[in-house]
Amino acid sequence: MDVILDHPVYKRIGATADRLGIQAYAVGGVVRDYFLQRHCTDIDIVCLGSGIDLAQAVAADIDPHITVSVFRNFGTASFHYRHGDTVWQVEFVGARRESYHHDSRKPVVENGTLEDDQNRRDFTVNAMAVSLNNDTYGQLIDPFGGIRDLNEGILRTPLDPDVTFSDDPLRMMRAIRFAAQLGFRIHDNTFEAIARNANRIKIVSAERITTELNKILLSPTPSIGFKLLQKSGLLPIIFPELSNLKGVETVGQRGHKDNFYHTLEVVEHVAEKSDDLWLRWAALLHDIGKPATKRYDEKLGWTFHGHEVRGSRMVKRIFTHLRLPLDAKMKYVEKLVLLHLRPIILSEEEVTDSAVRRLLFDAGDDIDDLMTLCEADITSKNEEKVRRYLRNFQLVRKKLIELEEKDRIRNFQPPVKGEDIMTVFGIPPCHEVGIIKDAIKDAILDGIIPNERAAAWQMMLDEGAKLGLTAQHPADTANTRHSSTASCANDTSSGS
Ligand code: ATP
Ligand code: MG
Repeated sequence: MDVILDHPVYKRIGATADRLGIQAYAVGGVVRDYFLQRHCTDIDIVCLGSGIDLAQAVAADIDPHITVSVFRNFGTASFHYRHGDTVWQVEFVGARRESYHHDSRKPVVENGTLEDDQNRRDFTVNAMAVSLNNDTYGQLIDPFGGIRDLNEGILRTPLDPDVTFSDDPLRMMRAIRFAAQLGFRIHDNTFEAIARNANRIKIVSAERITTELNKILLSPTPSIGFKLLQKSGLLPIIFPELSNLKGVETVGQRGHKDNFYHTLEVVEHVAEKSDDLWLRWAALLHDIGKPATKRYDEKLGWTFHGHEVRGSRMVKRIFTHLRLPLDAKMKYVEKLVLLHLRPIILSEEEVTDSAVRRLLFDAGDDIDDLMTLCEADITSKNEEKVRRYLRNFQLVRKKLIELEEKDRIRNFQPPVKGEDIMTVFGIPPCHEVGIIKDAIKDAILDGIIPNERAAAWQMMLDEGAKLGLTAQHPADTANTRHSSTASCANDTSSGS
């Protein structure tokens, strides 16, 4: 079978390789994706000779200005290459043989044949090569039945799977990731070997594991990946908190739902609506606090009171273990986990303006994602219940839009600032300032006063008077600032 790789860089590489008198092949993911008609911008080239020399010669032939990155320790070199709107990365390596020792992650690497190189690859579908030299251009070298497995949608290792997985246990994660990404089935022998070697995953760095977890989460059907991780025994090792969600406890006739499968259903629902990795993480973690808060109550049955608070507090530890970023993205996930019950509670009762304003206030710009998550969280088998929830949700969404237009609560900035309060009453920073600020905020959220400066100003004067404060500068002149030595009402009436 001939494979006509259409990108012009392949002919170039072939021509340069001919000139140097060495053989060059496109290999691995790029060949697999050609057959699957998947877009692929990472081109891997293997040659019988020095990958570094070939990379430099090809780059010089294309354009002398191209910078080649050389990794002498690994014997690889790569460069970026712009063609049309796309930037391609082309990576070169000399064919190699790898031998592993049980107690080390680092293989001994020697020069090898093309066959040696194909042997060290992870799956048959990833081990195909296509010749690029002129006289054999497009010839497919497929020693392990990669085409057959591609057609049947099967992932299996080229060699004995126990050897392949023990050599580099990350390949177990890759198998499951490809199953989720491509919708392929892992061959029984291969899957059984994953289950047998699951413990070996402990020698793999958290970064490499998390790269695969993120790819599973971003795949079209993340639940496939997480179910396989659980079934193979990998999940309890790499992500025990998620694995702990699995199982149903019963007292008498009463059981609760299996929170692992429920969580995966929610992730699937969110994945239908959004490609955002962090929203998908929030979905994966939304009920993570349930095992720790589970109680059985004679009257209420199973309860998980406070699981959103507990879960939100678990996010940082999980992100730390998995080497996920501890920045605004983590804060976003914490916030969504913390707030994930709010829209549903709100829609269970009468949807009041005040509750909707408070939700907007707490969620800020993440309100739309929170609504998406919360809607995805409705997985009841009771169709009438689901319909009722979704109807109420429509109402919440409508109110959110109306109130946001009217009151601009999203990213709320108090119309009267703490500094205004201090200046007006001639007081330093103290408890009373907070009391007045909160009273104004609550009045706005409850719709008692509009979100406007004049109304807020009047309320400040009234609240100050209630606290026994005297307004020294009652008019709103915004620009006069007085430093003050006066003390707070509470300081002078001590003893209460
Ligand atoms: P993707 O680019 O979507 O991650 P890929 O299969 O292209 O998938 P790469 O990491 O780009 O994966 O690697 C390219 C090729 O290198 C693979 O197709 C495979 O042949 C080989 N390979 C990568 N990682 C491993 C590994 N851990 N063990 C064995 N072979 C590997
Ligand atoms: Mg790739």
